[in-house]
Amino acid sequence: MQQHRFIPELSEEQIFDRQVEGLRWTVNHVWENSPFYRQRFQEAGIQPGDVKGLDDLRRLPFTTAEDLKAGYPLPLLSVPEDQVVRIHASSGTTGKRKVLAYTQRDVDTWKDMFARCYELSGMTTLDRVQICVGYGLWTAGVGFQLGCERFGAMAVPVGPGLLDIQLQLLTDLKPTVLGATASMALLLGEEVQKAGLQDKIGLKKCIFGAEAHSPKMRRKFEEALGLEDSFDVIGMTELYGPGAGLDCMAHEGTHYWADLYIIEIVDPETLEPVPDGQAGEMVVTSLCKEAAPLIRYRTRDMTRMLPGVCSCGVTMPRIDVISGRSDDMIIFRGVNIYPGQVAELLEDMPQLSSEYQVQLTRSGGLDFMTLRVERGAEADESVDEFAARELAQRIKHRVLVTSHVEIVPAGSLPRTFAKTKRVIDDRNRE
Ligand code: ZN
Repeated sequence: MQQHRFIPELSEEQIFDRQVEGLRWTVNHVWENSPFYRQRFQEAGIQPGDVKGLDDLRRLPFTTAEDLKAGYPLPLLSVPEDQVVRIHASSGTTGKRKVLAYTQRDVDTWKDMFARCYELSGMTTLDRVQICVGYGLWTAGVGFQLGCERFGAMAVPVGPGLLDIQLQLLTDLKPTVLGATASMALLLGEEVQKAGLQDKIGLKKCIFGAEAHSPKMRRKFEEALGLEDSFDVIGMTELYGPGAGLDCMAHEGTHYWADLYIIEIVDPETLEPVPDGQAGEMVVTSLCKEAAPLIRYRTRDMTRMLPGVCSCGVTMPRIDVISGRSDDMIIFRGVNIYPGQVAELLEDMPQLSSEYQVQLTRSGGLDFMTLRVERGAEADESVDEFAARELAQRIKHRVLVTSHVEIVPAGSLPRTFAKTKRVIDDRNRE
């Protein structure tokens, strides 16, 4: 196996030891320095000395997004303010943003995490990374850039949007790697095709993240941009930012940095750990985070642990692709539905594209679902009637709901630089 500069080669036992050590450090640190955590521990009847090993993790109380909002503007703060060198915030769709503070050591940990991701993607220091995700309060752009500089490749920090500049830089500087959301990669791919620039750009890889994507969507932007490979990067503002793990070249799951944080998978209803390998909500505990440590933080991301060792040889453990968020779930006529289920059904329908939108409406006290799906680029209108009927039947059969399917022209659904909104819930607008 090749030598790694950033990814430590740790045995299962060494990872275990680091987790025990990091957990004890974190528990002591928050007890001493965070009034929030100390109160939570006291309510749960826990003293730092009670946490001796990983088995004791289960006794600790959960932390949630609501706790972060309640602690606005500097939630979970566990260091004196003179040690805080930066804040970032996540784009709260409702109410207050979640603001997270960083010490210099936190920033350093983060850049190493992302450098590991670049390394896992097979990049070299000669690569050029065009970064077209958001800068500013968001962690996305800064994360891609910090990691890139730490790794030693060339960052081309464009930010989202600015399509003319994106295309110009892609052709002039010939970046080899694209850092983007899946939606932005798709949008750029379509623009490259429209402008006939496929032969004039030099992209080989895309590192994308921040939203659920389907294999079909991924194949589509890989093809449009002429990529050799693409990699799903995971991460969230609460846990430094993007760079918390990557699906490696073997594409057998997402390696995560288990020496820096612990993942538990729990049943989102009962909050009990699920049996190994079963799907549930990902809960994370940081092991060396100083300014805003996380203890059993409920991410709402749904995934499962993957057993065994990856064929790439990297010993860091793996989770499965994040299938969606537990709060993305919609309840339609009493049935729990995840948008990802629709994406899955589109996988083997070549006459349809990966792009869809679900609209929920209410009329006369009843809920209705309209599903708009783009026609595949190669298909013509003659397939619409059959494809719509076929998809409606599949949804009835697999998701157990009745929907009205409309096939719309390729490229007609809204495109976005960030995350595509798949569900429009108009049920309360009756
Ligand atoms: Zn691997």
